[in-house]
Amino acid sequence: MSDAPEVVRFERVAKRYPMGDSVVDALVDASFTIREGEFVSILGPSGSGKSTLMHLVGFLDSPTEGEIFFEGRPLASISPDQRACIRAEKIGFVFQAFNLLPRMDVRANTRLPLTYHPVPPINAAARVDRALELVDMMPRADHRPGQLSGGQRQRVAIARALVNEPRILLADEPTGNLDSRTAGTILDLFTELNRQGRTIVLVTHDANVAARSRRQIHVMDGRIIRDA
Ligand code: ADP
Ligand code: MG
Repeated sequence: MSDAPEVVRFERVAKRYPMGDSVVDALVDASFTIREGEFVSILGPSGSGKSTLMHLVGFLDSPTEGEIFFEGRPLASISPDQRACIRAEKIGFVFQAFNLLPRMDVRANTRLPLTYHPVPPINAAARVDRALELVDMMPRADHRPGQLSGGQRQRVAIARALVNEPRILLADEPTGNLDSRTAGTILDLFTELNRQGRTIVLVTHDANVAARSRRQIHVMDGRIIRDA
């Protein structure tokens, strides 16, 4: 058992979605702790509840049952406004579809989260440069997303997720739209970011991708069936 500070803890968390007259048990009885410096994969087939779990970790959604703690604080005790602030400040998101704004160049895209979490302009510029250097995209800083390859777009999305220096980086199928060689370089980047001390949660349906992380949480039909 590591004694690194906990970042996120789930205690018997469930998420149910109403579906007409019935309900979908998207997540059932989930308990785990993610500590600072960990690199964790959430692995499971399509529909197993991975995105549901990740949305809860990033408090984009609230649990139906159970309790979620962020840095030891129960989320239920934090107002929605405050949650939005904490999310903007402390959580970085990376998605399968990159989600870059096509009319903005790489620098402006990377800077976007600082709109919600303002820092002095001089610091903002330095942070953007640092994030782009981390992902090796400085040479393309003035390009627009349409002028980049898929792998380069995902690097920019990762820079955008890092620009706030978040406490935890969440990535949902970040290599899902990439060929296997490019996916490998993106996974190398996550490995390096973790080696530098960043806490990372990576959602994937691909056991080969999950094998890149030290810890794997397997989900099936909304249940955690293995955590190793
Ligand atoms: P995964 O990311 O592993 O593919 P999801 O977390 O997206 O799985 O979905 C888990 C289950 O919950 C699926 O059966 C899905 O259809 C259902 N689900 C997800 N989001 C919603 C929603 N907003 N409303 C109703 N059902 C949902
Ligand atoms: Mg999903």
